[in-house]
Amino acid sequence: MTTKSHLFYQTDSRRPVLAEARGIYMWDVDGKRYIDGSSGAMVSNIGHSSPRVLEAMRRQMEKSTFGYRLHFETEPSEMLATKVAKLTPDGMEKVFFVSGGSEAVESAIKIARQYAVTIGQSSRWKVISRTPSYHGSTLGALALTSYTPLTLPFEPMMQVMPKIPAPRAYLDGLELDDPATGAHYAAMLEAKILEEGPETVLAFIHEPVGGASTGALVPPEGYMQAVRAICNRYGVLLIHDEVMSGGGRTGRFLGADHWGVAPDIIAISKGFGAGYAPLGAMIAHDRIVDPVLKAGGFMHGHTYAGNPLACAAGLAVLEEIEAGAMMENAAETGDLLKSRLGALMQRYPFIGDVRGKGLLLAFELVEDRQTMRPLPKALNAYSELVELAYQEGLIIYSRRTRDGTEGDHFLVCPPMITNAEQVDEIMVMLTSALDRFA
Ligand code: PLP
Repeated sequence: MTTKSHLFYQTDSRRPVLAEARGIYMWDVDGKRYIDGSSGAMVSNIGHSSPRVLEAMRRQMEKSTFGYRLHFETEPSEMLATKVAKLTPDGMEKVFFVSGGSEAVESAIKIARQYAVTIGQSSRWKVISRTPSYHGSTLGALALTSYTPLTLPFEPMMQVMPKIPAPRAYLDGLELDDPATGAHYAAMLEAKILEEGPETVLAFIHEPVGGASTGALVPPEGYMQAVRAICNRYGVLLIHDEVMSGGGRTGRFLGADHWGVAPDIIAISKGFGAGYAPLGAMIAHDRIVDPVLKAGGFMHGHTYAGNPLACAAGLAVLEEIEAGAMMENAAETGDLLKSRLGALMQRYPFIGDVRGKGLLLAFELVEDRQTMRPLPKALNAYSELVELAYQEGLIIYSRRTRDGTEGDHFLVCPPMITNAEQVDEIMVMLTSALDRFA
């Protein structure tokens, strides 16, 4: 673009202008083609320009694009809520629509708090989360986030919440499939609850399969179940942040479905609207929501919540996932891509770990695989490798792993429609970028 831009996001660096996107591919206005190897920010789960979703949105647009929730019910929001309730664990029957992940997390912690107040437990207000973690940018969600570059400037403005370490067995030299490992990390939650005083602890929030902050971290054996049991023991609500892991990318609708663990409250977004519309939801168990509604209502809401156009898109996204058996494909193609990424460890000694589930996958760069010592800080691998891949025409996503001060991981999360030939294409581009990086 030659004219001055008035737009800004995190930085003033600018990217090429997007011209068109179809399936797993995107083109800029100069005609360069990219593979959307991270589905944006793990959003475009079903790929771009799905005719089914576009048609559903067009049909809805012709009927209405907005009906304020205090004035009208809308068909798409009712239908989507019903569908979501069927896809979530038994008893999680109440669906509260929002427009994104931060709003879903804010809604989750606010329904939890209002529930505690309603049942006479107003001493409970602390929400324990993990280090590192990312739960959103708004101040409530940020207070649960453990990622210094994002939180530090705002600390005086928010009530920073207690944190426990995320179960990064690979860094601590522990075996992922050893139940003792799961018990070890879960015990940290119990210790933190006791340290804070159980009567003050409202909830524990974590991502069943980690997203950007931990780089597709998979919990160790027994961790999910042990965390659930500890929350039950102390009357602490369990919130699953499935903003990134929900929606089918891991091969199941919810990341936690791999372990059969039901939380009390779920936050979803990203792949739920799949990039077609800003959409998210907070889903809670009846036993949480019913007392709150009976006592006068949930004191929370956003103007665009339940927007019929967004809900029509969300409904069509779920239909498309079912029709295309995309969760099955995410599991199968995910296994293939993970094994191909794993094989890179032989070629590049600086790849320290490959992890994830389905098509929520990441690899981590280290200086020394034995000690898992991170790359030197001065080496800004995180933007350098992303840039090299971008030049190849492959989009990957990166975050500095270890509390933003050291370590680098890279998410390789193409849409759930990716096939074996496209995995080959991704690997050619990635290998070429890694060769130039090495
Ligand atoms: N929670 C998790 C796990 C996320 O990955 C994100 C976004 O990356 C959020 C919450 C916040 O979502 P949003 O950016 O839509 O507000």
